[in-house]
Amino acid sequence: MKYYQMDAVMDIIFPAHCPVCGQILSVPKRRLRFISPFQMHPPILQELICKPCFYRLPFILESHCVICGRALETPLADRCEDCRRYPHIFSEARAVFSYKGPVQQALYQLKYQGRKEYSRFFAATMDYYLSDWIDSRCITAIVPIPLHKSRLKVRNYNQAEEIAVRLGERIGLPVYSDFLIRKKATTAQKDLSRTQRMENLSQAFCINPKYIIPSAAAIHSLGSILLVDDIYTTGSTVDAAANVLVNAGCPTVFVAAVAVTG
Ligand SMILES: [Zn+2]
Ligand SMILES: [Zn+2]
Repeated sequence: MKYYQMDAVMDIIFPAHCPVCGQILSVPKRRLRFISPFQMHPPILQELICKPCFYRLPFILESHCVICGRALETPLADRCEDCRRYPHIFSEARAVFSYKGPVQQALYQLKYQGRKEYSRFFAATMDYYLSDWIDSRCITAIVPIPLHKSRLKVRNYNQAEEIAVRLGERIGLPVYSDFLIRKKATTAQKDLSRTQRMENLSQAFCINPKYIIPSAAAIHSLGSILLVDDIYTTGSTVDAAANVLVNAGCPTVFVAAVAVTG
């Protein structure tokens, strides 16, 4: 059974809520599709959010940093101040939203309040807004940023993985959720400086030994990898993960995030 089919079943038992205002979404069309299996396909973006809330979303439109995807205030620059100052290990990152207002709240609920169902809305937005970019980058596999097992135990699911598996299903790319392991339980990053973040993250990730054996050739055969995470802040988390992949021989690492901080 596919993820969107399992989601459709869950919808019948627990009707889906709008990720922004929390109202129950009307699902008659989706239920009909569930009854007729031959017409089944993942829900379209507009079915996963109510109309007024859709128009409140802080989408990143034309002017964004060519490296990290952050919205730019001046359309004359091609990269943000952060990327001009610090190089990254990944090649390019893109995000759908600026991390503020309704998106910030919805991501908080997905992450800390058990609203796992919102992952399909975010996967649908990534599909809609980033699939052309993903297609043009010849990406062959998706790897979500893993949680440390102690954190996974508390939250029950990894929000990045929930988004990644649904995105992979929509755009037809394989998802390797266990490819990276978070071996260090890093402390919360948000109040740390850049240097402290890098310190905090060095040695945080490793490749799951099952992908290293029998040889590094297995990694080469994967080609370019798309790392998926929920929030991009300074890029130090995805850089730490990209570093492990590049050292193992992965040619290029791209990053897709739901939202990027301002
Ligand atoms: Zn709403
Ligand atoms: Zn940037």
